[in-house]
Amino acid sequence: AKSLGRNNYQIYAANTDASQQQHVALKARLRHAVKNDELRVFYQPQVNAVTEDIVGMEALVRWEHPELGMISPAFFIPLAEASGLIVPIGEWVLRTACAQAKAWEDTYGLGLRLGVNLSAVQLMQQNLAEVVTTALSDTGLDPNCLELEVTESISVKTVPHLVETLDALHAMGCHIAIDDFGTGAASLDYLRRLPADRIKIDQSFVRNIGVDPDDEAIVRATIDMAHRLKRGVVAEGVEIEQHLQFLRANGCDELQGYLFCRPLPVVAFDKLLAERERV
Ligand code: C2E
Ligand code: CA
Ligand code: CA
Ligand code: CA
Repeated sequence: AKSLGRNNYQIYAANTDASQQQHVALKARLRHAVKNDELRVFYQPQVNAVTEDIVGMEALVRWEHPELGMISPAFFIPLAEASGLIVPIGEWVLRTACAQAKAWEDTYGLGLRLGVNLSAVQLMQQNLAEVVTTALSDTGLDPNCLELEVTESISVKTVPHLVETLDALHAMGCHIAIDDFGTGAASLDYLRRLPADRIKIDQSFVRNIGVDPDDEAIVRATIDMAHRLKRGVVAEGVEIEQHLQFLRANGCDELQGYLFCRPLPVVAFDKLLAERERV
C-alpha cells in the first residue's frame, strides 16, 4: 500500500508538472489572443420572470484556440488576471459587446440591457471610468443600457477605490450589478456601500431549489431584502421548470439560465432577436 501511495504521488506530480507547463504555454499564447482575433464574445439572454421576454444579455468571453478549440473563461480569466492581460482583454470585451449591443439596438430597438463582467484588476485601474466612457462614446451605446457586473469576491481591501469607482460609473448612467451574490463574505456590507441597481443570486443557491430548504429560504430572503432596498434581482443558473416556478412565485424579477438559453455566438443571438421581433 505504501509503494502504491508513492507511485500515485509520482503520477500526480508528473501531471502537475505537465499542467504547469501547459499553463505557462497558454499564458504566453494568451498574450497574442486579442491581436490574433481568437477571442469571442457570447451572449446569454436574461428574461423577465413573468413574461419571459428578453430584457437583456450578459456578455461572456471565450477563447477560440486554433488547436485546443473553445477554452472556457473559468480557465483563462484567472490566467489573464495573474498576468495583467485581463486589462486589455476586458477592454476588448467591453468595446466589442457595446458595439454589438448598439447594432442590435439600431436593428431591433428593444432597449436591451448589456451586462459586462469587470475583474478586480480592471477595477484597480485608475482610468476605468474613462475606458468605459470612451467605449460608450465610440460605439454610441446609451450608458443606461450598460450594466457592469462586479463579483462579490472583490473586496474593498484589494480594491481601495472600489466605492468611488462604482459611484463614478453609476453617475455616468451605467447600472451596477453585484454578481455571485451570497457567496462572498461581505454581501450585506456590499449592498450597503455599493451603488448597486441589481443583485444576481448565485447559481449555487438556485441549484438547490427543491433540494435544500435552507437555500430556498436564503433565496426568498435575498429577493425580499433586495426589493426592500429597491434593487432588482436576477437569478443565475435557472436550469429547470421547478427553479422557474419557485423564483417566479417568490417575486424574482429576472432569470438567466440554460432553461431559457445557453450563451450564444452573435449570429445565433441575432437570429433569436429577429424571430422574437416577428412574433
Ligand atoms: P459569471 O459571471 O457568474 O457568468 C455566469 C456563468 O454561468 C457563465 O459561465 C454561464 O455560461 C454559466 N451559466 C449560465 N446559465 C447557466 C445554467 O443554467 N447552468 C449552469 N451550470 N451554468 C450556467 P462562463 O461563460 O463559463 O463564464 C464563467 C465565468 O467567467 C463568469 O461567471 C465570469 O466570472 C467569468 N467571465 C466570463 N466572461 C468574462 C469577461 O468578459 N470578463 C471577466 N472579468 N470575467 C468573465
Ligand atoms: Ca457575471
Ligand atoms: Ca455569476
Ligand atoms: Ca461565477
